[in-house]
Amino acid sequence: MPKSLFHIKNKQSIIGFLESRREITKDNCWLYTGYKDKYSGYGLTSFRKIQILIHRLSLYAYTEFELDSPFEVLHSLNCLNKSCFNPDHLRSGTTQDNMMDKKIKDRANGLFHCGHPREGNTRIKHARDGDRDVCIMCARELDRFYYDRDKLKKQNQ
Ligand SMILES: [Zn+2]
Ligand SMILES: [Zn+2]
Repeated sequence: MPKSLFHIKNKQSIIGFLESRREITKDNCWLYTGYKDKYSGYGLTSFRKIQILIHRLSLYAYTEFELDSPFEVLHSLNCLNKSCFNPDHLRSGTTQDNMMDKKIKDRANGLFHCGHPREGNTRIKHARDGDRDVCIMCARELDRFYYDRDKLKKQNQ
């Protein structure tokens, strides 16, 4: 995110924007009540047609974090709300940190790293996907994907 986009926006006005779209939970999460990405669940806004994650914008507004930083903005391990933008629940880290955090959170939530539940589910090797270790739900999705693809291939022959 180039800094030039934001230097005219002072931090106080960003804070005003964020706090007018905030719902505080009993765990002191600041849930973003504005637009959220349908898939990731992250709060999202755009300035001059450039999209920016709300939690990233928040860390910028409340701390010394720079928007053009190469680091990602991560939620702390005990904050499970993706739309939360409480700066006390955020920190900057590398993509690797992010992936590690995700694994720990998923385990705590009883999920495999793919996001499917652990309970009533096991991991198997999926031969058609390079012997990848996947959960049964993922395997079913993969089977469907390969089935549809094969069918399409046959139709086009
Ligand atoms: Zn939170
Ligand atoms: Zn899965």
